[in-house]
Amino acid sequence: MAEHESLEFGKADFVLLDNVSMEEFMANLKLRFEKGKIYTYIGEVVVSVNPYRAMNIYGRDTVEQYKGRELYERPPHLFAIADAAYKAMKRRNKDTCIVISGESGAGKTEASKYIMQYIAAITNPNQRAEVERVKNMLLKSNCVLEAFGNAKTNRNDNSSRFGKYMDINFDFKGDPIGGHISNYLLEKVQCCMFCLVHQLLRGAPDSLLRSLHIQKDPTVYNYIKVGGQIKVRPTFLSVADAMKVIGFTGDEIQTAYKILATILHLVITDNNKSLLFVQTPKLVSVIRELLSTKEENVEKALLYRTVATGRDVIEKQHTEQEASYGRDALAKAMYERLFCWIVGRINDIIEVKNYDARIHGKNTVIGVLDIYGFEIFQNNSFEQFCINYCNEKLQQLFIQLVLKQEQEEYQREGIPWKHIDYFNNQIIVDLVEQQHKGIISVLDEACMNVGKVTDEVFLQGLNGKLAKHAHYTSRKLSPTDKSLEFDRDFRIRHYAGDVVYSVVGFIDKNKDTLFQDFKRLLYNSANPVLKGMWPEGKLSITEVTKRPLTAATLFKNSMISLVENLASKEPYYVRCIKPNDVKSPLLFEQERCRHQVEYLGLLENVRVRRAGFAYRQTYPRFLQRYKMISEFTWPNHDLPSDKDAVKRLLQGCGFDHDVAYGKTKVFIRTPRTLFSLEEQRAEM
Ligand code: ATP
Ligand code: MG
Repeated sequence: MAEHESLEFGKADFVLLDNVSMEEFMANLKLRFEKGKIYTYIGEVVVSVNPYRAMNIYGRDTVEQYKGRELYERPPHLFAIADAAYKAMKRRNKDTCIVISGESGAGKTEASKYIMQYIAAITNPNQRAEVERVKNMLLKSNCVLEAFGNAKTNRNDNSSRFGKYMDINFDFKGDPIGGHISNYLLEKVQCCMFCLVHQLLRGAPDSLLRSLHIQKDPTVYNYIKVGGQIKVRPTFLSVADAMKVIGFTGDEIQTAYKILATILHLVITDNNKSLLFVQTPKLVSVIRELLSTKEENVEKALLYRTVATGRDVIEKQHTEQEASYGRDALAKAMYERLFCWIVGRINDIIEVKNYDARIHGKNTVIGVLDIYGFEIFQNNSFEQFCINYCNEKLQQLFIQLVLKQEQEEYQREGIPWKHIDYFNNQIIVDLVEQQHKGIISVLDEACMNVGKVTDEVFLQGLNGKLAKHAHYTSRKLSPTDKSLEFDRDFRIRHYAGDVVYSVVGFIDKNKDTLFQDFKRLLYNSANPVLKGMWPEGKLSITEVTKRPLTAATLFKNSMISLVENLASKEPYYVRCIKPNDVKSPLLFEQERCRHQVEYLGLLENVRVRRAGFAYRQTYPRFLQRYKMISEFTWPNHDLPSDKDAVKRLLQGCGFDHDVAYGKTKVFIRTPRTLFSLEEQRAEM
């Protein structure tokens, strides 16, 4: 626990609460928020409350205060966690990771940026040029990914619509030498709508817009109308600059422009008039030009689908509906592919090169995870389902690791462990991901149905398999349930609360089909960059046999490997809380916050931490801090070991009953003991 903050700011560590109750927890959280103390510990976990105002606590001077210090020596801060992760990596050669969680708008992305900024600030003391270059690229890549993957939602003006996990690799000196980014499920629709238009239109020179055939007046385009007011974001030009710095070529950046422009043109018409759209020859030739394909191919791909029936290959004309579905799918797929391609290119550029582990020792890693938080909207669909499942997985990891770590420490130190009850959400994880009976399996089955493939069939499948599950209900199963308004709804009782999902669109989104004709169209582009993004377009219609994995299964697989990866590292946690829904720096909405504290399991976290021991410290450090309060240890002791000296000191104060002596650390059970030590120290 942080030891040096005045009590008027509340308790700097929740472990120090007199009683672990929701009331006391909330009172402390509120008091600290009102005093401008946005960070509080639970042991080594940082709880952060979004201040919604600029805080003067991230500057160079603050960095200096935290550099190389122990967690408890300074007031709670993200920098302390970043430093702890860095020290573990450097001193003990451990791979570490920092997992940032919390709901949309709680401050995860900001936190991840401060952590990166801190690591950049404390490394490379010798200013090696290569390391500076790597650092610069890691920071710049953030800006590019945000530009493409963030959007304004009604929860957050700059909401990350993709999950991001970034590894930073360090050499034996502890300096960054490269990195790797993994991205998860981009919520492409919103991204398309918001990011693209504003970035492309704002500030782009007329000549560029002209070459892309874009009119300056944004009201011409459909998607812009949806966008509404948008806060100032970087223009696409500054993003293009960042891309240049990272190492994208001119052709690559041009291609990105062209793809964005194509998407704009594709979605320009009203939803149901795509045939009309294709009959507008001017637009077809604009798209042909942007994509460097043949005019007739563009038109054909938008109007027809090639199907193989037995040995024959025929061309089937789309219905109006199919055509507009196809067009929208094309726009989305191009955007998503562009995004993944950008991540891939950044990875090519920043991956560790020329590092010989035999000479320099193992290169170690700090991973930073900034992923979409738990989400409940008015209307929840497939995307929210995936995002909330992801949060279940991370919560499960938190439960395992926090408990596991405690347990291991007690074992290591030879101290008996007492079990604490907590809600284990494994049951919900299983509900979603279990083979054959989980929701994803049922969804995949429904998608593979030979007969009717509809969202209703999917819902029937769910009801059939999950009727008895404690965390699943549908309207069919519970007709009087008020929260389930429609026959297409089902509800999952998540660890963070109940969410009602509408099945509408699940099948389409899960299949995520893009007509093969589009893939071939893009693969056959004369623009090599674009062609490279669509390698599967190489296959001719008769060669395409394998059914691609569904979106949900792909997502599930990526979550499972993410969690495996995180579990292999030493984790540090930042738990973000959103104080209110109106982005106010003053308002602490009691109920909103309480709910988050509840589902994040923070109270259990404090209990677990305390049930064991509230405080632990290595013997030498403990002495360093408290030796002045005992005649046996001040100014130096003559006992055989530091452990003996600490024993003597604590016996002398009458605290012997409240402590346990591990192999390398002393453990203090109740915070009161520590207060008392602190008081005595202050009186000296
Ligand atoms: P999402 O899940 O939607 O991506 P998020 O948790 O990543 O949400 P952020 O984008 O990090 O949320 O934060 C939302 C906004 O809150 C920021 O744009 C900023 O205005 C404010 N904010 C968050 N953290 C801080 C901070 N430490 N200091 C000042 N403002 C902050
Ligand atoms: Mg974010």
